Amino acid sequence: MIVAERKPFDEIKELIKGYKKVLTVGCGTCVAVCLTGGEKEVGVLNAELKLSQQASAEQTIFGEATVQRQCDMEFLAEIDDMVKDYDALLSMACGAGIQFLAERFPEIPVFPAVNTTFIGVNKDVGWYEERCKACGNCVLGMTAGICPVTMCAKSLFNGPCGGTNQESCEINKDQPCAWFMIYERLALQGRLDNIIEFCPPNDWRNQKPQTLIQPGYEERKTSA
Ligand code: SF4
Ligand code: SF4
Repeated sequence: MIVAERKPFDEIKELIKGYKKVLTVGCGTCVAVCLTGGEKEVGVLNAELKLSQQASAEQTIFGEATVQRQCDMEFLAEIDDMVKDYDALLSMACGAGIQFLAERFPEIPVFPAVNTTFIGVNKDVGWYEERCKACGNCVLGMTAGICPVTMCAKSLFNGPCGGTNQESCEINKDQPCAWFMIYERLALQGRLDNIIEFCPPNDWRNQKPQTLIQPGYEERKTSA
């Protein structure tokens, strides 16, 4: 899932300063799972915003809405009528959702209430760890299911580097060496030959905007 964290409260307040009617829009998928931007967090943020202006002359009206996914026009359409009553939108979705919201309502300023941090896993309630940087050329099949781009401090596709201290990385003794972990798991699986196979340089497709069209859906894009 995509993991995000709420922006500092003062930053959010500054972003929406001067707007009279602000609709806070949550997303019911990834950011809800990581306890950052779902329906509950929208309610909490709005309550804090209202409380913070109790002693000030500024009297903004805050509304709230949470759609199932902000990265899907079908769900954004559900708030078309509601949005017309506001002069700014405060999105609690990931960066993709925020941009899709802005694309759906280009005449209304859209502000981010969260920082999108990584693609990760749910280790426990409130505990998330990064696992993928969407590099566009997945090598997990060679690396025993451990991502060298995310877990290695140098994102090496062929490791380990000379700085490895076996279990720990040279950057920090508390940081596990990704390539040592890869070695250990490959050994466990009897696949150590993989570690000496040369992995060619990545073309880093994630450095420019990507589009994916599944086979059979090309016509939909042409007619859009
Ligand atoms: S190799 Fe690339 S696509 Fe695969 S998990 Fe790592 S960053 Fe993600
Ligand atoms: S010590 Fe290991 S994790 Fe650290 S940069 Fe070198 S190969 Fe990567």
